[in-house]
Amino acid sequence: MPIEVFEDPGVKIVKIGPIGQFANNSYLIIDPATNDAALIDMPAPGEDILAAIEAVNIKSIVLTHTHPDHIGGYDAIKGRLGVPVYCHPAETLMAAEKIDVPLNEGDELTIGTVVAKVIHTPGHSPGSICLLIGNRLLAGDTLFPGGPGRSRTPEAFRQVVKSINERLYVLPDDTAVHPGHGADTTISASNRSTPASPPAPTRPTSAATSSGQAVEMSF
Ligand SMILES: [Zn+2]
Ligand SMILES: [Zn+2]
Repeated sequence: MPIEVFEDPGVKIVKIGPIGQFANNSYLIIDPATNDAALIDMPAPGEDILAAIEAVNIKSIVLTHTHPDHIGGYDAIKGRLGVPVYCHPAETLMAAEKIDVPLNEGDELTIGTVVAKVIHTPGHSPGSICLLIGNRLLAGDTLFPGGPGRSRTPEAFRQVVKSINERLYVLPDDTAVHPGHGADTTISASNRSTPASPPAPTRPTSAATSSGQAVEMSF
C-alpha cells in the first residue's frame, strides 16, 4: 500500500493510497508527541487500511462525505477500532445512526495537541467537508488539481464552485491540497487552472470536463 508522509511542526499527515477499485486516498492526522491519530475516510478494502495504521492510536474517524467509495471499509474498520465516526449531518447516503458525532462548519477536531478545522463545502455532496490542519487541506472530493469534483446537477455544480471560491480560494496560496483521489495540488495552482466564475454547465460532468476545468469522477 503506497504511503506518503508529510511532516510539519507538531503534526504529521500520512497519505494512504491509492486504495481499492476507485483509487481512493485515505489520510491520517497524527500528533507525533502522543501518536494519537484521526483516520480520514474509509475506502474498501478496510483490511488494507487497518494494516497501514497499526503503528498509531486511532482516536476518531472522519468522513469527508459518504459516497460509497469513501465508506466501503466502514464495517471492517469501525468494527475493529470501535472509535467514534464524525461526519456532517447533511450527508444522507449513509444511515444516520452510523454517524456518532455530527461535524459542522467551524467545528474543531482535536487529535492530541493538533487541531483540524472543519470547512463545510457543499456541492459534490450536501455534507461534504474539508479539514484544514495548519497549511494543509484534506479536500475530500471537493477540490482536485484540475478543479471541482463531479457534481450531479447544474445547481450542485454552482454550489461546489461557490464553496471553492468562497471557502477554499480564500486560504493562503501555499496551502497544500490533498484530495480524496489522485495527486496533490496547492490552492494557488488549483486557482490558476480554474476561472473565477466558471459558467454553469447544462450537463455538469461533460461541460465541466470539456472545458478542461474539472476532473471527471464517476463517484
Ligand atoms: Zn465523492
Ligand atoms: Zn470519491
